[in-house]
Amino acid sequence: MPAWYDDGMRHIWLPYRQMKTAAAPLAVARTRGSRIVLEDGRELIDGIASWWTAVHGYNPPRITNAIAKQAARMPHVMLGGLLHEQAAKLATRLAALLPGDLSRVFFSESGSVAVEVALKMAVQFWLNQGVRSRTKFIAFKGGYHGDTFATMAICDPEEGMHTLFSGVLPEHFICELPRDEESAEALDRFLADHADEVAGIIVEPLVQGAGGMLFHDEPCLQRLRGLADKYGVLLIFDEIFTGFGRTGAMFASDAAEVVPDIMTIGKALTGGTLPLAATVASGKIFDAFYSDEPLHALMHGPTYMGNALACAAANASLDLFENNNRLLAANEIGKAMTTALGPCLTLPGVKDVRVRGGIAVVELARIENREALCQRFVAEGVWIRPLRNVVYLTPALTISEAELAVLTGAVRKVLESGTI
Ligand SMILES: *Cc1c(COP(=O)(O)O)cnc(C)c1O
Repeated sequence: MPAWYDDGMRHIWLPYRQMKTAAAPLAVARTRGSRIVLEDGRELIDGIASWWTAVHGYNPPRITNAIAKQAARMPHVMLGGLLHEQAAKLATRLAALLPGDLSRVFFSESGSVAVEVALKMAVQFWLNQGVRSRTKFIAFKGGYHGDTFATMAICDPEEGMHTLFSGVLPEHFICELPRDEESAEALDRFLADHADEVAGIIVEPLVQGAGGMLFHDEPCLQRLRGLADKYGVLLIFDEIFTGFGRTGAMFASDAAEVVPDIMTIGKALTGGTLPLAATVASGKIFDAFYSDEPLHALMHGPTYMGNALACAAANASLDLFENNNRLLAANEIGKAMTTALGPCLTLPGVKDVRVRGGIAVVELARIENREALCQRFVAEGVWIRPLRNVVYLTPALTISEAELAVLTGAVRKVLESGTI
């Protein structure tokens, strides 16, 4: 191992990790296309695109060149009192791209913060109109919205963080998704009793990602829109995972033909190159802040919001979406994954195989040792990190057929060999 590795391992604190017992992280030298090149020369085909960010593969020249050009001109300038071309252009392009009148873009540097801003926006939407009782949110079992305190409180309570931090987190309403008429009626009854305490409903549309890659259908989202309208509560779509082609549509909202009042985006926004997220509000939300009263302004402003390098990267990523049919690619990848992974359903311990767009999921009854499983994938030359009880693939939408076949082949081989 290079010296930086051993020195660094004495000082770095890595995510979601028991630092005492977890296996040593792999030392990465570089990336290209769908490959992660390790310091020892091994190459892994990436099955999860670095937490779903690298939709165009690693190091896409269009994006890396845009970053280099912007770095030479102006890496960053604060947005307090100043505005620059890349942030202005990106906001304009996102407003045109997003459904309905989602047209006001508030930038931040991480998904969790974008969700925090959405929650704050929703509560202040009511406060600005003199309504002080609507401070709670309805979120759903299986959901994941981030790791900060406010967002932890709207994640699935089974995730563990609720128990660990019970008494510390604000309490919200974690409900069942209205997957059918019966659960829709239950949510309807719940809202009938509690709507006057509820600022908004927040959901990851179509696919709940980190909570276990759980799918629901378009009518479920249409029911949520209907209930939000019926009870006058706001509807927030957290598209941080689903946005930018992952489900086979540009946004899950497009597929469902449902326009939320607020949407959060992040992850693939810069094509996996720089941290950037955004909270996008509809005209109705923005209007509640637009007044002669200074205190009605949105009181938020991350230091690095609208970072010029990150916005340049996002603009270049949107160019790539415009110049290439990534949605077609997502659906083709989905077809190939369905064919290749469908047979896993007959394997012992496999509960379900499901595919939507560029997401394939093999759900197991349980995974005893996720880390050991991960290491077996590495031995097959692939980078796949199971979460909860699922092994899933969310490759770059540019992955080659041959590389995709290596990924699906590795999943089958490892699951066929059993003992996980
Ligand atoms: C990843 C994720 C977040 C949190 O984003 P970070 O950038 O990790 O803070 C929030 N919501 C969803 C749906 C996510 O997938």
